[in-house]
Amino acid sequence: MKKVTPMMRQYLEIKKNYKDSILFFRLGDFYEMFFEDAIIASRVLEIALTGRDCGLEERAPMCGVPYHSSNSYISKLIENGYKVAICEQVEDPSTSKGIVKREVIRVISPGTVMEENLLDNKKNNYLMSIYKNNDKLGVSYIDITTGDCYATIIEEQNLIEEIAKVQPREIIYSDDVLNQKLDKISILNNIYLNKKSSCYYSLDEDILFKYFTKEYIEKLNLLNTVEIKYSLIGLLNYIFNTQKQITSNINNINIYKSKDYMSIDIFTRTNLELTQTLRNKQKKGSLLYVLDKTNTAMGGRLLRKWIEQPLVNKEKIEKRLNLIEEIKDNFNLREDISEELKNIYDIERLCGKIAFEKINPKEMISLKESIEKIPNVKNILLNSDTKHIKSLANEIDELKDIHLLIDNSILNEPSITLKDGNIIKSSFDERVKNLRELTTNGTYLIKEIETREKEKTGIKSLKIGFNKVFGYYIEITKANLKQFQVPSNYIRKQTLSNSERFITDELKQIEEKILNAEEKIKELEYELFINIRTEVYKNINRIQKVAKIIAYIDVLNCFAKVAYENNYCKPNINTSGKLSILNGRHPVVESIIGEENFVPNDTELDTDNFKIGIITGPNMAGKSTYMRQVSLITLLAHIGSFVPAQNADIPIVDRIFTRVGASDDLSQGQSTFMVEMTEVSHILKNATKNSLVILDEIGRGTSTYDGLSLAWAIVEYINEKIGCKTLFATHYHELTELENKFKGIKNYCVAVEEKGEDIIFLRKIIRGGSDQSYGIHVAKLANLPCEIIKRANEILKDLEKNDIIEKNINSSEVAITNQNFSDKNEELKQINFLNYEKENILKEIKSLNIINMTPIEAMNVLYNLQNKVKAIGDDTL
Ligand code: ADP
Ligand code: MG
Repeated sequence: MKKVTPMMRQYLEIKKNYKDSILFFRLGDFYEMFFEDAIIASRVLEIALTGRDCGLEERAPMCGVPYHSSNSYISKLIENGYKVAICEQVEDPSTSKGIVKREVIRVISPGTVMEENLLDNKKNNYLMSIYKNNDKLGVSYIDITTGDCYATIIEEQNLIEEIAKVQPREIIYSDDVLNQKLDKISILNNIYLNKKSSCYYSLDEDILFKYFTKEYIEKLNLLNTVEIKYSLIGLLNYIFNTQKQITSNINNINIYKSKDYMSIDIFTRTNLELTQTLRNKQKKGSLLYVLDKTNTAMGGRLLRKWIEQPLVNKEKIEKRLNLIEEIKDNFNLREDISEELKNIYDIERLCGKIAFEKINPKEMISLKESIEKIPNVKNILLNSDTKHIKSLANEIDELKDIHLLIDNSILNEPSITLKDGNIIKSSFDERVKNLRELTTNGTYLIKEIETREKEKTGIKSLKIGFNKVFGYYIEITKANLKQFQVPSNYIRKQTLSNSERFITDELKQIEEKILNAEEKIKELEYELFINIRTEVYKNINRIQKVAKIIAYIDVLNCFAKVAYENNYCKPNINTSGKLSILNGRHPVVESIIGEENFVPNDTELDTDNFKIGIITGPNMAGKSTYMRQVSLITLLAHIGSFVPAQNADIPIVDRIFTRVGASDDLSQGQSTFMVEMTEVSHILKNATKNSLVILDEIGRGTSTYDGLSLAWAIVEYINEKIGCKTLFATHYHELTELENKFKGIKNYCVAVEEKGEDIIFLRKIIRGGSDQSYGIHVAKLANLPCEIIKRANEILKDLEKNDIIEKNINSSEVAITNQNFSDKNEELKQINFLNYEKENILKEIKSLNIINMTPIEAMNVLYNLQNKVKAIGDDTL
């Protein structure tokens, strides 16, 4: 350390505190990187790696990017999963002695970026903080570009579910115990993890009071909720450490409880393709894509949030439904709202830019133009023939004063930079007016001199030019100089190969005036702009509030539009547990193939006779589509949206589970049978009688017999122990027997029509079980070579004749012994299943230790055994 140059010492001193970031070290017009940072950056940014003498034996690896184009390089590093610390010269190099003082002025991380090119305008960019206190976690998250901040307490086991819902870009957390859990989800979802976050080292409450008022903190009772408090302190510490400033766009914390929203686990979210598709994680093809008819970025973000967290409170859901209903059939109202909203920019993020002092004059005009539309929106709502919508209008602050301020002061087409002038209207400030006149007048004067000198000298090609070193000059070509005499007041200043440049006293005097004025006006305009920005900043809460209402109206209008255009109906919400859908459709599939080509289907489920539906039918028949459609309609109703059906009566459900069997799940290529079973176990542990469970071909990932046995046992368990509404699609036709054994279970199948060797899918769900797989038919549809189809049919016939499956059963290995599942004799099959239960009873009797029993114990055992035998029924005994 001793040997290194003073500058390098300064570098290392600063770098020490930013080990996890690439340090951009400002040297003149460049940001330079050294050592490991330089090696990484040169690789990621594809720039040359050089070296610099640093006093040590070996030169320090170095690379650099120009200050002016640094944004694109920073973006690229962030996209590649790095953080960037920006270190600037914080004193004027011309006046400082020795090494210029340097400081990190901001750290840019995925969760704290403000740069538009790194943000999705219709998605919040959340930074999440997790504070662990025993098995409770305080979770808080914030989007610093909009100021949206949320906090809650959850059980540790629900962490992944919460993360899947929020989809943060970056996570900080207090306890390394969480490493393993977080590693996995962060890789899958491209989340930046800050290991060992130092922002929890000091949990000083002061930081809270820097962002929020004392009254507000007291109102939220924050100081008494340890987990939330510390999670927020960590969050704010991190923001302060990276942004180095306290901004008042962060002024609000939404504290919620998990049970305020429907819980949807990560598998269900992925399987239902709520905001992105399973396969390529794109928005296109997801539920969000079909629903997104929002006109503003703010509305787009809110819509996503509504989809991610459906409500479970009947009144809240109905409030949304009623508002949407008022707009839905009112074409003019819908269109008028859209028309105004279309011209509203992202006010929320503009507020963020104001707060972080990043707004440019052009964006200030975008803000003005957006504010301009707000009174129109208000009037449209007020004049509409509605009740609830109208009352929303009254909450809208028209922000006339802000509009006036910007309109009076800033040019309609200002520059996008702050320090080059061309920002402020002359009418706004007398000084600007005078200086501007001087500069425009000055250029006019120069033109005049040029014309005059041309005449005076007779040199037609004489011209007046300007450069930074010599200022204004008169340029005459050498050819002309030979031919003409230059006036005596011309002072030779510079000789070029083809021409000479001259100045005159007059020219210099005018030049000084002009340059002075230009310099001054730039400074003045900058200063005035900062004042205006500060003035607007003082009103940021008001503007944010309006932005929230605009987003809300946008989403309601969006749902109304979707409901109208896609022919959705208003669901009735009940708490009786009865789910009834008439002619329901799958919102995404129908949007792809067209409503007219989609075969609608009914659904009846309740908590009694129709608890569980077993759905059989060939591959490609439409089972998965049907079941997902039931979940999506239920989910949409909970979001407060209309639903794709002719009529729908939807009960409040606490959770929706959707699980797809291994063989169907291509999403992450990692679905082993073990994963499938873990997920089913999760469902069985968490479902209540108010849940909706969709099981799609569960048990397929293993051999037929264990698969079938498991599927059978799972359905029994759900029916008896949980009692939740369940749809279970299966290949195992044997499961249709459950209908005869249990009251709550009913069979359904997807109708197909056989036409000779071919089948036609009718896509209609009907009562009853299907007893054929039509696998070979489907293979034929898929254009497998004729030879194979023919041969497969032959083999199938043989198999059916000889029933080799039966002969291959190893009775001691499988749970259900001595079974003949391919047997078409229903009665016999049932008897076989009962044999299984009888066998269990026999086993139990065999294992009794009678010698060690008291007479009372023996009586009890006998009593239990008798009950079990009775439960089987006597016809088989
Ligand atoms: P399964 O799960 O029975 O194998 P899927 O649900 O995957 O069948 O459906 C197969 C295809 O059939 C889907 O890709 C879809 O295009 C089409 N389909 C499914 N249900 C319908 C329907 N109700 N109306 C029209 N087409 C449908
Ligand atoms: Mg399927």
